[in-house]
Amino acid sequence: MARVVITGVTGQDGSYLAERLVAEGAEVHGLVRASDAAAAASDALARGVVLHEGDLGDEDGLRRLVDEVEPDEVYNLAGISSVAQSWREPVLTGRLSGLSVTVLLDAAARLQDRTGRRVAFVQASSSEIFGDAAVSPQDESTPVRPVSPYGAAKAFAHHAAAVYRGRGLHVATCILFNHESPRRPTTFVTRKITSAAARIAREGSGTIRLGNLAARRDWGWAPDYVDAMVRAARHDVPDDFVVASGTTHTVAEFAEAALRRAGLGDDWADHVESDPEFFRPADASVMVGDAGKARRELGWTPSVTFEEVVGRMVDHDLELAEREAGA
Ligand code: GDP
Repeated sequence: MARVVITGVTGQDGSYLAERLVAEGAEVHGLVRASDAAAAASDALARGVVLHEGDLGDEDGLRRLVDEVEPDEVYNLAGISSVAQSWREPVLTGRLSGLSVTVLLDAAARLQDRTGRRVAFVQASSSEIFGDAAVSPQDESTPVRPVSPYGAAKAFAHHAAAVYRGRGLHVATCILFNHESPRRPTTFVTRKITSAAARIAREGSGTIRLGNLAARRDWGWAPDYVDAMVRAARHDVPDDFVVASGTTHTVAEFAEAALRRAGLGDDWADHVESDPEFFRPADASVMVGDAGKARRELGWTPSVTFEEVVGRMVDHDLELAEREAGA
């Protein structure tokens, strides 16, 4: 039975990954912050995950976790996950999403040296490492040139992963483009839109205040991206893989699709406002990935269309709004 460590197990990707690996019969260990431990405990029990309380900033704690569990696979999904938050907390972002990755890589490499067993490491890298890329679509050879504190931290981690690959650790990076689900927090524009659309549908009025409506993103379905990470961990050759849907839509198009799904199609534009408060100091205008290598080498393929991603998120939020109204 495979032993697995997942950092960020309480997040969107971590929770889908944990469910999948537990279902496969793996022994899954998850790192969870002390502040999330109580809330995570009931969920984790349901998912069959062994929780370890700890902090990404605690180097000794991270090393102890790897030493004690002796995992076959490490999935590093933890860190500051939102670009917006990274502008508010740039230093913390660098520490948690950048520097702490070297601690885990180093602990995994030492474990491999000590036991002589292969340790597979997957770093959840990000399209944000490309910043406002000069080439489109972006692939594994696109220059790394971030434009946000989040992108800079992920770029550092991306390079550190390559360094440890050179040292003999089986490190794959998945360069994940935006991937969404009903488990996305509302700090991300997609869930902000779908939860607001559900509220407007229930109340019959209201607007969604957003930033740059013209920003284009490549939005996929989170469980598909988790599938790519598992494939990357188990592939013979550790490598970098872009994971993306290959299609883009604007924030305005996402809002339109969501409001239509919520039954507000005819006057959807009346429910959307652009507010300077939500613009960013710097923002990639278009992000679109070429996942050709993941398709060819990992046999990966996205299974959910853009319309269906929006639809599933809106349906979930409509149900939630109804339950709250009934409560
Ligand atoms: P990101 O691509 O990882 O930063 O994911 P987000 O969902 O946070 O943002 C996606 C895009 O939507 C970015 O270009 C944002 O500038 C844009 N955007 C427009 N309005 C908003 C908003 O109100 N909130 C957020 N989070 N993003 C917004």
